[in-house]
Amino acid sequence: MKEKTGMILAHAGEEYDQYFNAIVPPVFMNSLNIFPTVDEYYDSDKRDKHTYCYGRVQNPTVRILEEKITELEKGVESYVFSSGMAAATAAVLTACSCGGHVVCIRTAYGPLKDFLQNYCREHMNVRTTFIDGDDPKEIEEVLEDDTQLLMLESPSSVVFRVQDIKKAAEAAHAKGALVYIDNTFCTPIYQNPLELGADFVMHTASKYLGGHSDIIGGSLTVKDPELGKRVRTIREQIGSIIG
Ligand SMILES: *Cc1c(COP(=O)(O)O)cnc(C)c1O
Repeated sequence: MKEKTGMILAHAGEEYDQYFNAIVPPVFMNSLNIFPTVDEYYDSDKRDKHTYCYGRVQNPTVRILEEKITELEKGVESYVFSSGMAAATAAVLTACSCGGHVVCIRTAYGPLKDFLQNYCREHMNVRTTFIDGDDPKEIEEVLEDDTQLLMLESPSSVVFRVQDIKKAAEAAHAKGALVYIDNTFCTPIYQNPLELGADFVMHTASKYLGGHSDIIGGSLTVKDPELGKRVRTIREQIGSIIG
């Protein structure tokens, strides 16, 4: 592990002066936060990363984890979810609208494919084209003018197929589509897809990030704050923040 990575894991996002310089950040168990006046509660312009209003929206302990993942993934913002699937579906709901089109690799995580093929098709009229993904030309060929999202997973579940992230992202962006990648198997230690052109990097924290088979969680990291705002809104409305 690189020295920088160790620093991120140990210190990133930890604002010691916010909790009496305790070296171990406290676990904030609260739901509601109080404000001096009702006006200050409603003043969304004044909100920053230290403004916490309600635990379904944001929590100081969750924020620390998000800052660490953001730095590890070399992104701008991360959002942590109650599971990897909560993160994956939030990306789909952020990027896709009624009647749109998704391109997804055939060996992607099964429940994600089920969500696309069943819920998204039936309730959103979103079509999905599944591809091998090994050849960038194949990706270029299946992208359509109304493709909204290209979903990669490299290496992919079970069989570890890999995609050329950079070429895939170039082709997708040329069509105006966003690029999502499940980076679970590489972890941020071995691959940072935002640097290769991806728009969303997803992790299930239930696997390598957690590392001990004792938690369920997921994350989305983005480099565009506008996209981050859309992800944050979906998480708030669906209520899928990690506990
Ligand atoms: C387990 C897994 C997921 C789903 O994560 P959950 O936390 O179980 O919802 C997504 N992608 C990959 C590659 C996985 O292995």
